[in-house]
Amino acid sequence: MNYRNAVLRCPGCGGQLEEQIRRALRIEACSACGGMFIDWLDGEVREVVNRVATPPAASEQHDGDAGDGACPRCGIALHSESIGDPTADILRCGSCAGAFVSLSAFRLLRSAEDENDGSADDPILTRVLDALERIVTFRRS
Ligand SMILES: [Zn+2]
Ligand SMILES: [Zn+2]
Repeated sequence: MNYRNAVLRCPGCGGQLEEQIRRALRIEACSACGGMFIDWLDGEVREVVNRVATPPAASEQHDGDAGDGACPRCGIALHSESIGDPTADILRCGSCAGAFVSLSAFRLLRSAEDENDGSADDPILTRVLDALERIVTFRRS
């Protein structure tokens, strides 16, 4: 069995997470509820949300309670963590430090960034990320 092909379950709705590359960041996105799981090494949650910019497209209406709230990587229970201003609740893994960001939390964090006057648009960082994305794309093709 190939670990890379193992199905990761969304902690929010129990749907299947799909790997997506967004601006050189690899995220695990849920196409059912629009949530996403961010690995610790991808960086600080608010920065990742700002880079990803648009949340995963949600295809279904659901109540958000069908997920088991477990880390898709480790299988242990995630705990709630409040970040940002306005405050958004994300789910954090105490083992791998990955974070699950629901669609509503994504929108809260994203609107907070919009008021930040584009301070995250560092031209050097953007160039580095674009270069990284090309490398990642090349290696995956
Ligand atoms: Zn989901
Ligand atoms: Zn974990």
